[in-house]
Amino acid sequence: MSNTLKITPKNDHWTKSTCAYCGVGCGIEAKVDWDSEGNKNVTVRGDESHPANYGRLCSKGLALGDTVISDGRMDTPSINGQATTWDKALDHVATSFSNTIKKYGPDSVAFYVSGQLLTEDYYVANKLMKGYIGSANIDTNSRLCMSSSVAGHKRAFGTDTVPNCYEDIEHTDMIVLTGSNLAWCHPVLYQRLKAAKAAKPSLKVIVIDPRETDTCELADLHLAIQPGSDVALFNGLLNYLDEHGHINDDYVSQYTEGFEQALSVAKDDTGTNGLDYLATSRSTGIPIPYLETFYEWFANTQKVMTYYSQGVNQSSAGTDKVNSIINCHLATGRIGLKGSGPFSVTGQPNAMGGREVGGLANMLAAHMEFGNTDDHNAISTFWDTDNLATKPGLRAVDMFDAVAEGKIKAIWIMATNPVVSLPNANKVKEALKNCPLVVVSDCVTDTDTVRCADVVLPAKGWAEKSGTVTNSERRISRQRALIASDYYGNEPNPKLTGPKSDWWIMSQVALRMNFAGFNFTCEADIFREYAAMTTLNNEGARDLDLGALTRISNEEYDQLSPQQWPLESGASLDSGEKISQKRFFAEGNFYTPSKKGQFVAVGYRAPASNISKEFPMILNSGRIRDQWHTMTRTGLANQLSGHKPEPYVQINPQDARCFNLKEGDIAELNNTYGIAKARVQFSSEMNPGQLFMPIHWTDVESSQGKVCSLVSPEVDPVSAQPELKFTPVAIKAWNYACEGLLLTRTAIDTDMLNSIDYWVRRRVNGGFLYYLAQSADSSTDTEQRQANAEPSLLNI
Ligand code: SF4
Repeated sequence: MSNTLKITPKNDHWTKSTCAYCGVGCGIEAKVDWDSEGNKNVTVRGDESHPANYGRLCSKGLALGDTVISDGRMDTPSINGQATTWDKALDHVATSFSNTIKKYGPDSVAFYVSGQLLTEDYYVANKLMKGYIGSANIDTNSRLCMSSSVAGHKRAFGTDTVPNCYEDIEHTDMIVLTGSNLAWCHPVLYQRLKAAKAAKPSLKVIVIDPRETDTCELADLHLAIQPGSDVALFNGLLNYLDEHGHINDDYVSQYTEGFEQALSVAKDDTGTNGLDYLATSRSTGIPIPYLETFYEWFANTQKVMTYYSQGVNQSSAGTDKVNSIINCHLATGRIGLKGSGPFSVTGQPNAMGGREVGGLANMLAAHMEFGNTDDHNAISTFWDTDNLATKPGLRAVDMFDAVAEGKIKAIWIMATNPVVSLPNANKVKEALKNCPLVVVSDCVTDTDTVRCADVVLPAKGWAEKSGTVTNSERRISRQRALIASDYYGNEPNPKLTGPKSDWWIMSQVALRMNFAGFNFTCEADIFREYAAMTTLNNEGARDLDLGALTRISNEEYDQLSPQQWPLESGASLDSGEKISQKRFFAEGNFYTPSKKGQFVAVGYRAPASNISKEFPMILNSGRIRDQWHTMTRTGLANQLSGHKPEPYVQINPQDARCFNLKEGDIAELNNTYGIAKARVQFSSEMNPGQLFMPIHWTDVESSQGKVCSLVSPEVDPVSAQPELKFTPVAIKAWNYACEGLLLTRTAIDTDMLNSIDYWVRRRVNGGFLYYLAQSADSSTDTEQRQANAEPSLLNI
C-alpha cells in the first residue's frame, strides 16, 4: 500500500460546490491547478450567486483548499489491520452483518451516521437499515447538535420545519441570539447580521449567553443567563406579553391551541399575579433592569427574529427550551413573516438533509412517521419491502450503551468520531473495543474511532464527493467533486483500492446481503428516488415535498442551482434570476392533526446534574472559531491551528485565585466520568462558578484534551440530546516539573507519546509542533524520552 496518495485531476475550472462545515451551507467556487509534476493547488472563493452567503466565507471556508491534501488520507480497505481489496472488505461486512442478524435479530446491529454525509448517502443508509434490515437502529451525530429543535418543531408545528429564511436578517428590527455564538459558529450569518446592523443602526441585537462571547460585540443587550435557565426566561417573557397586552389574540384564536395551559405554567414559574421580576431574576441570574429591557423590547418591536443553536439544544431540557421560545412567537403571531420568526441554526453541513431522509432513529424518511399505517404501507410499497421497521430505534447515547451491554454486536460508524464527541467518551471507547464487529467508514486514517475499528473502509472526502446537502433555511445545494479519487495509490484498478462514495459502499454491502433496490448507478438516481418518496401520500399533508425534482435528468441534477423546499410538482425551479424565500405558518396551516400550531406548556427544570462540594464548577463546552468538530479536516490547515493551538479552559480570574491557578498553568479537570487537562486562560467572559472548554481536541491530537471524557450521559427526555453545556467538575493546577516545545518533520509515534504526561500537537509548515510537559513525580527521564522520540527533530 502506498502512503502517498496521488490525486488525479478532474478539471481545472471554477466548480460551484458547498462548504464542508456548518449549517449555514455557504456556496463556494473552487479551482484546482496542477503543476507539471502533478501537484495540485485548490483555491476556494465564495459563490456570489449563492443565497446563503452571496460570496462571503469565513476563515474555515476560505481554508478549505488547504485541507485537500493526501497526508493521512485513508486509501485502502482493511480488516483487522490488514490491507485488503474492496471485494473482500465488502463481502466481510455483508456476511458479518447477515450472520449477526440471523443469529441475534435485526436489533443486534446499528449504524451511527453523520451530518457530514450527503443526502444521497443518508438516504441509502436509512433505506438499508429501516427498509431492509428491519431495525431503526440508525442514528446520527446530529442527535448531539439539533435533535431538541427537531422535537420542539414537531411538538409545535407537527413537522420538523424551520419557518423562516436567512433573508429575514435583512428585514427584521430585532434579533435575539440565544445559545448561539454566531460570530464563531456560524460566522457568515454573523457577517450578514453585522452588515444589516450597519445599514440599519436601529436594528437591535440581544445576546443571551452565559459567556460574553465575540458575538456580544454587536449586542445592544447581553443577558448573561444562568446556564440551563432559558425556559424560565422565556416563560417570564410570555407572562410579560400577556400582562402588558401584547398577545396577538387573532392569531392565537384562529391558528393555535393550548395557549391558556402554556401561559398558566409560565405564570407558575414566573408569577401568577403578573410577572415576578425578582423570582425570574433569581432563576435566570439576570438582573431585573436587563429583564425589563429585554421584555419591553421584545414586546414593542414589530419584527423580531429569535435565532437559537446548541446552547439551547444541548440540554436535558432542550426541547422545552425550544418550545418556550416558539410559544412567545406564536403568542405574538410573529412567525413565518418577513423579519419575524423563530430560527434554529443547525450545526452541521447536512444535519437538515439527514432529518429529511430519516437519519434520526425516531423518524422515517421524507418526514413520514412511525405508527402511521398509511406512511408504513406507502414506504413498504415504494421500497418493495416487507421488512420495514415498525418502531423507533436506539438514539445515540442509548445506542452506545447497548453496544457496551453487548446487545448490539455489530455497528457501522460513518463519517463521524463518536469516541470523541459522545458524552462519557471513555465508556464509548471501551464499548467499541469490546464490540464483536466495528466497521468504520472515513476518509482519515487515524481517528480515535478508527483506532477501535475491526474493518475500515476508505470513503471519499469533501473534495471528491458528489451529491446534495440542505442548509438551515431548507435550501438544497449541490456538492460537486473537485478531484477524482478512484485512482489513489499506485493501483489504477478502482476495484482494488481507492476511496468510494458512502452511498456506493452501502449499496454494495446491501446487494451482497441479497437486498434488492440498491442498484443505484449514480447520485442522481438516489436523489430522484428520494424526491419521489417525498410525494408519497402527500397532497399537502407534509411540507417536505420535492415533487418538482422527481424527474430531473442526470444533466439537470449536475447543473442544479440551490433550491429551497417545498418544491411541489409543477413548481418552477430557482435560477440565477429567481431566488425563492419560502416561509411557513404566518397564516396557520400547521401540520398537526387539527392544523393548528401547538403551544406547549413547559415549566422550568434545573439541569439534570448539579454542582456539589466535590465538583463545584459548571463546565460549558463549544466550538472555537477556526476549528471544526474533531479537527480531522480543519486541523490540516496550519493557519487555522494557529488560532487556538492548545486545549484551554477559560476561567474567571476570581475563581482562578480560589483554585490557585495562574494564567498559562495546565489545569486538571475531573469528575466521576473522567479527567481532562487544558491550559488555563483567564477570561472576564466567564461568570464566576463557570468554565469553558472547546470540543475539538482528541486522543490523536492531545494526551487529555477531550472534553467529552467529562460530560455526563444525561439526555433530554424528549429529544435524547445530551447535556453538553452543563457538567459539574473539579479543577486544580496540574503540577509539572518541566515543559517544552518539540518541532518535528513527521508525527511522533503514538506509543512514544504515551509515556509523556501532557502533550498536544498541531501542524505547522513542514511538520508538527508538540507542546510537552512532564509531572514532577514521573519515573521516566523526560529529556531522554524526547531525544529518543524523534530523531529528525529540528528544535526543542
Ligand atoms: Fe463554511 Fe459555515 Fe463558514 Fe459558511 S459560515 S464558510 S458554511 S463554516
